[in-house]
Amino acid sequence: MATLSELHFVLVPLAAQGHIIPMVDVARLLAARGPMVTIVTTPVNAARNTATVDGARTAGLPLELVELPLPGPQHGLPEGMEAIDQLTGHEPGMYIKFFHALWDLAGPLEEYIRALPRRPVCLVADASSPWTAPLCDRLGIPRLVIHFPSAYFQLAVHCLTAHGVYDRVDEMEPFEVPGFPVHAVGSKATIRGFFQYPGVEKEHQDALDAEATADGLLFNTFRGIEGPFLDAYAAALGKKTWSVGPTCASSSMVDDRDSKAGRGKPADVDAGHIVSWLDARAPASVMYVSFGSITQLTAKQLSELARGLEASGQPFVWAIKEAKTDAAVRALLDDEGFEARVQDRALLVRGWAPQVTILLHQAVGGFLTHCGWNGTLEALSLGVPALTWPTMADQFCSEKLLVDVLGVGVRSGVKIPAMYVHLPKKAEGVQVTSGDVEKAIAELMGDEPEAAARRTKAKEIAAEARTAMVEGGSSHSDLTDLISYVSELSRKRGHENSTTLPSAVAKL
Ligand code: UDP
Repeated sequence: MATLSELHFVLVPLAAQGHIIPMVDVARLLAARGPMVTIVTTPVNAARNTATVDGARTAGLPLELVELPLPGPQHGLPEGMEAIDQLTGHEPGMYIKFFHALWDLAGPLEEYIRALPRRPVCLVADASSPWTAPLCDRLGIPRLVIHFPSAYFQLAVHCLTAHGVYDRVDEMEPFEVPGFPVHAVGSKATIRGFFQYPGVEKEHQDALDAEATADGLLFNTFRGIEGPFLDAYAAALGKKTWSVGPTCASSSMVDDRDSKAGRGKPADVDAGHIVSWLDARAPASVMYVSFGSITQLTAKQLSELARGLEASGQPFVWAIKEAKTDAAVRALLDDEGFEARVQDRALLVRGWAPQVTILLHQAVGGFLTHCGWNGTLEALSLGVPALTWPTMADQFCSEKLLVDVLGVGVRSGVKIPAMYVHLPKKAEGVQVTSGDVEKAIAELMGDEPEAAARRTKAKEIAAEARTAMVEGGSSHSDLTDLISYVSELSRKRGHENSTTLPSAVAKL
């Protein structure tokens, strides 16, 4: 009979930081329960996460990274272009080539698994890695699909599809999401599934099929904020569904200084320097500004944001990755003197910031976020009210959840997506003026009763998030149930190497 440590999970994230970061978190959570966990990704993505994985291994977790070379050049991609953030600004065709190259990893992954001394007990595939489904079928390995957007978003897309809305309205026409647990008004452009773009129709169908045939679904969320959406989605798809997050609230992450600082990739600024800078600020006085790993603002829009931050008078930390790639942004910061003008009360990070380290600091009182699901969960888990500035994909749904459902956000006023992942067409116009930014910051950080209520709510949700992740909490219990479920499923499918040990599972 197998013990927990003999169970082996293989995790296959999408090659994007917003997917690999939480997948590494899930790997750590699983490994902390005993099973061996392997994360399979490409060399560039592996290198970005080596420090975090090595740290976890040093702490005794049975975790490893396995690299499969991406056959990008065979599809016309430059050598080393292996992650979605590297595609930002490239023509749409590059995204299609990128997905074709990813799909070609199926053969090497199958070879890798066949060469293992024992079959893994389970493969956990990102919903955007559906190319793993046929090989799991051939190998007889249970397969779970993990969604890294919210259950709110997945359900909204499902409802729009089920009610034929995508076929009958114009891109920006507002409509109420039909059959949804809460009142929500959106548009096709702002509630669009991950592969619902021209050129990736096959990938879209593959993703739908892989989800329909999966042995279960996972979400990085928790019942305290998404219970009704999780239940409705599980019922709609008729699938066993677990919520195992927010992974960023697990104590192994929050208490591990090095993992936090190097999350996603090594930071472009010393985390200790940022902490000292924050130490000198009053509690809840600083805005943190970040648009995640992919979204880049146009120089014009970024200049409006800069002027708004300056006019607000609020201290701020701003992760400006555009400073690495856009000469006009560098000119704004340097030649036009923005950085010099705000240096007494602002810290600019030109590149990758240690985001969780920053959000955890008591000096931070507001988060201007593009509402990526990870950033959203980080705000919620760490009790920081949000100024919402969605730009694409699931982000408009996260904004609705933060502002309309949970009452912890203020809108910047964005109406249309500025950027599509697969059609990276940027809106040239300015959607949020400096005046809008100044007003929204005052509303979020001010002393009005509404602002105080948002702060209180944010702290309550953060406490619930922590509770969900510890023993007895809903996400902790879901992970226990998941391990037990796939262990039993694998045994039923006849792998002599993956029989379940009820006594060991009971001790999880
Ligand atoms: N992140 C970070 N430093 C940065 C920018 C982003 O650590 O300078 C992390 C952030 O904490 C989050 C992830 O990268 O965990 C971004 O994921 P999200 O879903 O928020 O947005 P995406 O990048 O997918 O649009």
